[in-house]
Amino acid sequence: MTETLPEPTPKKLFIKTYGCQMNVYDSDRMADALAPHGYQPAASMEEADLVVLNTCHIREKASEKVFSELGRLRELRDERRAGGQDLMIGVAGCVAQAEGDEIVRRAPAVDLVFGPQSYHRLPELIARAHNGAKVVETEFPPEDKFAHLPPAKREVTVKRGLTAFLTVQEGCDKFCSFCVVPYTRGAETSRPVEQVLAEARNLAEAGVRELTLLGQNVNAYHGLDARGRSVGLGELCFRLAEIEGIARIRYTTSHPLDMTDELIAAHRELDALMPYLHLPVQSGSDRILKAMNRRHTAEQYLDVIARIRAARPDMALSGDFIVGFPGETEADFAATLEIARLTGYASAFTFKYSIRPGTPGAELPDQIEEAVKIERLARLNAQIAQQTRDFAQSCVGRVLPVLIEKPGRNPGQVGGRSPYLQAVHMPGPERLIGTIMPVEIVAVGNNSLSGKIVTDAEPISASVIESSAVAAHIA
Ligand code: SAM
Ligand code: SF4
Repeated sequence: MTETLPEPTPKKLFIKTYGCQMNVYDSDRMADALAPHGYQPAASMEEADLVVLNTCHIREKASEKVFSELGRLRELRDERRAGGQDLMIGVAGCVAQAEGDEIVRRAPAVDLVFGPQSYHRLPELIARAHNGAKVVETEFPPEDKFAHLPPAKREVTVKRGLTAFLTVQEGCDKFCSFCVVPYTRGAETSRPVEQVLAEARNLAEAGVRELTLLGQNVNAYHGLDARGRSVGLGELCFRLAEIEGIARIRYTTSHPLDMTDELIAAHRELDALMPYLHLPVQSGSDRILKAMNRRHTAEQYLDVIARIRAARPDMALSGDFIVGFPGETEADFAATLEIARLTGYASAFTFKYSIRPGTPGAELPDQIEEAVKIERLARLNAQIAQQTRDFAQSCVGRVLPVLIEKPGRNPGQVGGRSPYLQAVHMPGPERLIGTIMPVEIVAVGNNSLSGKIVTDAEPISASVIESSAVAAHIA
């Protein structure tokens, strides 16, 4: 029997988000699902009636952080109860999916544990927890979660700003030997084209100018259109670019094997598709790539990069690397430094390998000593930091189109993003927020670029945002 929440009474919700952009998107959708039931955002955990930890299981430390946060939440709940009030505690995301009952066993203060496929059932799960049950929901339900999640209210989207995430694909069938995603997020699925377009139209109508399409393996997207035809990510980008107001499209995270000719051609032909691509390689050694089950060699990766750059010569690359995978020798690591150099990354994320129970990597012999991992990570980080500085420096003197997103740190300044996702600060009036302006890059700062708007220039793309949307964003 389906239980429902009582009549909406004002309640406060605080969601703490760990991990990737997909969790950021999911947290917003959970808030949207609970808004019709009277839950409003709380500014802090201390103010909340319901706290949800939306967790990440990618690395060991991520789940340990969750358990220490749950310890603090138990103290908060005990204080509340001593004062005659209460606090409900939920755990969502990939730790919830992977650990299920174990969470309630280790942290009995937790009222509900639910995996990423159950977010549309959240109101019902909370109702069950209100009635005193310990709720653990980690099944993969048959219904389409996205079809049951309510859209955000327009004013909520307006407040979230000019850029938005939009999940188009979930799960992964690649089974890299280090990775928990295929177990926590399940098999690869793509949202239908019309559903994605409808969500994008709502976002654009509320003032969103830039979409970042999300998926664990986003370039494997193959959603069905209204006629039942399978559509790839390249075609989806073309369809999204037709929506009035959508000026920029990005997508993440991609697998090298799924960079199809169609998607590469979209980079050549579609101006709205930004020339910045996150394409993880993980290692530069063929031996390690094989042990990781990445299903491609270093040379094949470099070949994909060459094809992308032939289509879009100014493409900036970003990547992920794992150092210290079981069996990694100094020669294997040298190959990783070399592929990073050859690719010429504009930025990259680097990780020490961490054993994930249940993955094939956890069973491999020759686990690498922590001290060796730390030393290799430091060397890789130093090289990537230099490459990032070199790339930023190469932008000085260029005029880049910048989406002006917000007021700057100082009065009379505005801030935005370059096509390569770099933060750019420049003098300029707030009325330019929501426009794309030509900006000459004049200097490189620590984590951002300084620029000046090319005077007398017309916006490259005019604002389609109503003044109320801009005002709310500035507030
Ligand atoms: N789907 C993407 C891909 O194909 O590369 C990214 C998945 S994962 C959410 C993000 C990154 O975390 C991975 O690219 C990898 O570099 C890192 N990662 C995943 N599992 C790891 C592990 N067991 N130890 C260290 N890093 C890991
Ligand atoms: Fe994990 Fe990405 Fe490999 Fe899938 S492709 S198993 S998400 S690292």
